[in-house]
Amino acid sequence: MKKTTGTDPRITAKWRPATQAVRAGTHRSEHGETSEALYLTSGFTFDSAQEVAARFAGDAQGMQYSRFKNPTVEMLQDRIAAMEGAEACLVQASGMAAMTSSLLCMLSAGDHVVAGRAAFGSCRWILDNVLNRFGITHTAIDGTDNAAWEAAVQPNTKAFFFETPANPTMDLVDLEFVCGLARSKGITTVVDNAFATPILQRPLEFGADVVAYSATKMMDGQGRVMAGAVCSSQEWIEEKLSPFQRNTGPICAPFNAWVVMKGLETLPLRAPVQSANALQVAQFIEDRGLRVLHPWLPSHPQHELAHRQMSAAGPIFSFFAPGSGEQAKENAMAILNALELVDISNNIGDAKSLMCHPATTTHHNMGAEGRAAAGIEDGMLRINVGLEDPLDLIEDIGQAFDRVAF
Ligand SMILES: *Cc1c(COP(=O)(O)O)cnc(C)c1O
Repeated sequence: MKKTTGTDPRITAKWRPATQAVRAGTHRSEHGETSEALYLTSGFTFDSAQEVAARFAGDAQGMQYSRFKNPTVEMLQDRIAAMEGAEACLVQASGMAAMTSSLLCMLSAGDHVVAGRAAFGSCRWILDNVLNRFGITHTAIDGTDNAAWEAAVQPNTKAFFFETPANPTMDLVDLEFVCGLARSKGITTVVDNAFATPILQRPLEFGADVVAYSATKMMDGQGRVMAGAVCSSQEWIEEKLSPFQRNTGPICAPFNAWVVMKGLETLPLRAPVQSANALQVAQFIEDRGLRVLHPWLPSHPQHELAHRQMSAAGPIFSFFAPGSGEQAKENAMAILNALELVDISNNIGDAKSLMCHPATTTHHNMGAEGRAAAGIEDGMLRINVGLEDPLDLIEDIGQAFDRVAF
């Protein structure tokens, strides 16, 4: 059987992204299977009592129990770590399990977090409703404002937590500046990189400490399973996240890990194509006279920053139905209802194009005041552009605009 070089990080680190996506982490069994094996097992057996004792003592490598380690899950972890350029990765049951674990594993009562105000609804919710119950305070700021990051730092600030691009405002955080500021003050930076993926943006290269993912999105890429991932240094993963995760159990099921691993094989192909399709659709909507938030368009206030830190803007962007207040909301809902090809769905990262109204779905929990502060207007629509022919998407969105009569 050919040597399984996919398991040697010294070799996989040198591969280019497309090779890593297909081969990194692959660990063949004695059968020499081409596709990665799916180990649906919770437990493992041992050749001797001494062997199991050595594994539990940490003196021998190998499996013990699938809450700690599973061969399929481990293959996915090694593949994501290689693609991210990270020393280590652990995967979780969902993106929110990844975000919650990343914060809870390292913060204690009395600590403070600075967070970007524009964020995935549940990321805001855990700050407001979980961390604060345990005496971990936070300051939510406008993440696009470098001075605001600096001003929000307190002596007890332990973490910066943000998304870039942010959901659904497409606000960007200046990775080089904010990660550099954190480094200079001994603060750990946690970047939610779900929108960009390691193919389009690599936060570790800008000095981020922890990169966290909803693997449900672009990594799976076909809307099938829930999963999350956290990448960092070997030391942080071993000392902070691993003991927390082993004992609290937000782990990724082997089947879901296997599906995400197969999804990764096509990520370097999908991410640039979906980005190009999204840009084409965004240009069409802007040309129809609507306000569009797309980081690759010159109309985006952080257009230059986008080109500095991303290689393409990804499949997601937002735009505004005409009108204001209640009228804008009615127009937004009428556009959704008039779509014939693009589906109404709050999911993203799928090969199918999906559109949603954040104010009444993903960001409903934040309340009107929270939404206003984060720039999530009533007329805002967010689209995930898939792998369909963009001309068919443009025709569909165009006929929806025509039917809503503008
Ligand atoms: C979807 C999403 C999450 C949460 O991930 P789940 O897999 O749904 O738990 C977190 N952050 C961002 C930016 C997301 O898009």
